[in-house]
Amino acid sequence: MSSGNGHAPSYWEKRTFLRRRNLIIVGSGIVGLSAALEAKRKNPKWSILVVDRSMVPHGASTKNAGFACFGSPSELLSDIEKHGWDDMITLVKKRWEGLQILMKLVPEQDLNYIPCGGYEVFNDAQRELLDECLEALPALNEALSFIGHDVFHHRASLQDHGLENFHGIIACPYEASIHPGMMMRSLIRQCHTAGIEFLNGLDVSAIDDQGDKTCIQSKDFEVTSDYLLLATNAFTTKLLPEIDLYPARNQVVVTTPINNLQLKGIYHHDAGYVYFRTVEGNRILLGGARNIFEQQERTDQITVTENVLQHLQELLARKIVPGTTFGIDYQWSGILGLGSQKTPLVQWYSDRIFVACRMGGMGISIGAHIGQTAAFEMVTR
Ligand SMILES: Cc1cc2nc3c(=O)[nH]c(=O)nc-3n(C[C@H](O)[C@H](O)[C@H](O)COP(=O)(O)OP(=O)(O)OC[C@H]3O[C@@H](n4cnc5c(N)ncnc54)[C@H](O)[C@@H]3O)c2cc1C
Repeated sequence: MSSGNGHAPSYWEKRTFLRRRNLIIVGSGIVGLSAALEAKRKNPKWSILVVDRSMVPHGASTKNAGFACFGSPSELLSDIEKHGWDDMITLVKKRWEGLQILMKLVPEQDLNYIPCGGYEVFNDAQRELLDECLEALPALNEALSFIGHDVFHHRASLQDHGLENFHGIIACPYEASIHPGMMMRSLIRQCHTAGIEFLNGLDVSAIDDQGDKTCIQSKDFEVTSDYLLLATNAFTTKLLPEIDLYPARNQVVVTTPINNLQLKGIYHHDAGYVYFRTVEGNRILLGGARNIFEQQERTDQITVTENVLQHLQELLARKIVPGTTFGIDYQWSGILGLGSQKTPLVQWYSDRIFVACRMGGMGISIGAHIGQTAAFEMVTR
């Protein structure tokens, strides 16, 4: 067995950490971990190894906004325009089912699940868009009645949310907020309890289906397995350059504490490109706007940039909490996996390698569903 740059693994390492497994999963985000748990549940005898390039997941699952959502009215209308009603309904069903699976997998208190409801807010320049959405609400509500009665309604008031600087608001009582860090910590704990092993800090540089086994390689090591799952989302093209996928960065800020905030739920704006909510009750988390900086944000570099941060701060100062003094305490970014389709890419790449990536902007909603689907495919192969 070769050892890359001369870091020869010992006999002991080859017999333990680097031994052959039944299943290796690359990527310890929500998809990788829910796949690991499901594969182990279905086949307790399987030895399963999860590898990640980073100490903690380093993609999107611990960096997102924590919206348990399935698409705001304007986002869904835009999806219908591009892909038709049937595709939109199928995708929302998967997101909704994904949320139910996630809630079974992770106890409510570990998710910090708050059924606060969601809202889409429209600014003055979006009056026409608001009218289009209002006109489409009865049809949308009928199509999404599998979620519940009146999925979207227009009875909320901007004043109640302290959002007088916007022009209109549509409410969705079925949306909620969660704490992504707590969610991932619970999934990791559950994996440890189930006997799933981890190798963190292992950046996979190549993969191979060798007919009777698969192989992952990094700078220093290689490990083989019967089956391999790539749950590397936005970063999958580094290993499989030809697939329909591109990375898109999303930057996020969290303010200093602000007194007397009236925000009550999770808020979508600008067809889902912008999102905000409170954290700890008195700070605002605001992220997105990649549509304004489209070329620049088509990157997998997990960094922040001055222009996007300034844009987000202006949005806070002009529209969300005008006349309020605040600072920015936290700023970060994460990477989405997008493609020409909004649906995830969930398929066999070869006889022994399965791919589950392209989670789009709602992988917290859909991720556990996709993880379980991938696990089912592998344990029943
Ligand atoms: C800022 C932001 C806000 C978001 N807000 C929401 C939201 O509110 N609600 C929602 O539903 N969705 C949201 N999303 C989307 C959601 O977070 C993602 O779709 C989801 O987390 C993707 O999960 P994943 O497991 O597929 O990938 P990831 O979480 O990206 O995990 C992939 C893992 O693979 C590892 N990896 C990659 N390449 C390699 C390699 N070569 N070798 C080893 N390891 C590797 C990475 O380190 C990473 O840990 C948001 C995303 C971002 C960026």
